[in-house]
Amino acid sequence: MAKIAIIGAGHVGATLAYGLILSGLVSEIVLVDKDRGRADGEALDLAHAVPFGRPVRIRSGAPADIAGSLVSVIAAGANQHPGETRLDLLDRNSGIIRSVAAQVASINPQGIIVVATNPVDVLSRLAFEESGLPAGRVLGSGTILDTARLRHLIGQQFGIDPRNVHANVVGEHGDSSVICWSTVSIGGVALPDLAAARQIAFGADVRRRIEEQTRAAAYVIVQGKGSTYYAIASGLARLIEAILRDQNSVLTVSTMARPDLELPTADGVWLGLPAIVGASGLVETLPLALDEAERAGLIRSVEVLRAAYDRQRKRPC
Ligand code: NAD
Repeated sequence: MAKIAIIGAGHVGATLAYGLILSGLVSEIVLVDKDRGRADGEALDLAHAVPFGRPVRIRSGAPADIAGSLVSVIAAGANQHPGETRLDLLDRNSGIIRSVAAQVASINPQGIIVVATNPVDVLSRLAFEESGLPAGRVLGSGTILDTARLRHLIGQQFGIDPRNVHANVVGEHGDSSVICWSTVSIGGVALPDLAAARQIAFGADVRRRIEEQTRAAAYVIVQGKGSTYYAIASGLARLIEAILRDQNSVLTVSTMARPDLELPTADGVWLGLPAIVGASGLVETLPLALDEAERAGLIRSVEVLRAAYDRQRKRPC
């Protein structure tokens, strides 16, 4: 049983803590926020959920109180206003990530950092650079959420449990994300074959709609209720489960592109890729089987992420 730190006790951080209380995965949760009153209030409210959940010690604390945490989740920073892209948050959140990641690594040099703050791919790269930790012990939530949204929509179209949909969204967690249609399967059956067998509409128009709804989901939710948190908190809890239980699960996390992906100019860029996640953090990324259009889309996404990283690097700290 492990201790987990959550830095940023806002919607995402508090909802993750709630999910962890219900999961029975952890023995201790520490909430840290620059707004100490918010962290205190959330910790007390959450502590009152423990008698209905699983035994967990939950409290608010100062940064020093995260000592001994196996995983530190960073969910601190601004979220999107209606109409804003995730990359629009870069100026507001890069300074926060730089200081928080350095502090977390100095307190827990043997721990794992999981970044959720947006734009998550660029900020995961900054967290890696500032923390000095090995790349495998810094992970971003990447396209975990986009992949969940895609699996939900495909499951809905086919009338099948989304947990049985094997699908990946890769690249930027944002507008340039790439849906790997060519490798989607349900129960080991390729989608076009399943569509034909079950007489389900799956033409270009259906794929386009699913693609648009996957990418636009955050905008629709932010417009409706201000921010998104249940699904990302569930994805983060799943990621923590894979680490704590050493599950070697495949999850589309933000990590550094490897040269063998053969993506020109991807050197050093962090992006969402399917990867094996276990007790040591990120074990290995999986080879990508992309068709021509998907590969072109991923190269565009790499360019977007590289340009965003270069832009913020030119800003004075
Ligand atoms: P929120 O405004 O509810 O909470 C953010 C919290 O961070 C606030 O309590 C604030 O006081 C705290 N904070 C700011 N600077 C801090 C610092 N230096 N140290 C400690 N705490 C600090 O926002 P939210 O809805 O919880 O979203 C948090 C982040 O998560 C945003 O960047 C959002 O875009 C991102 N997010 C990511 C995903 C994803 O898929 N990766 C999904 C949803 C939201």
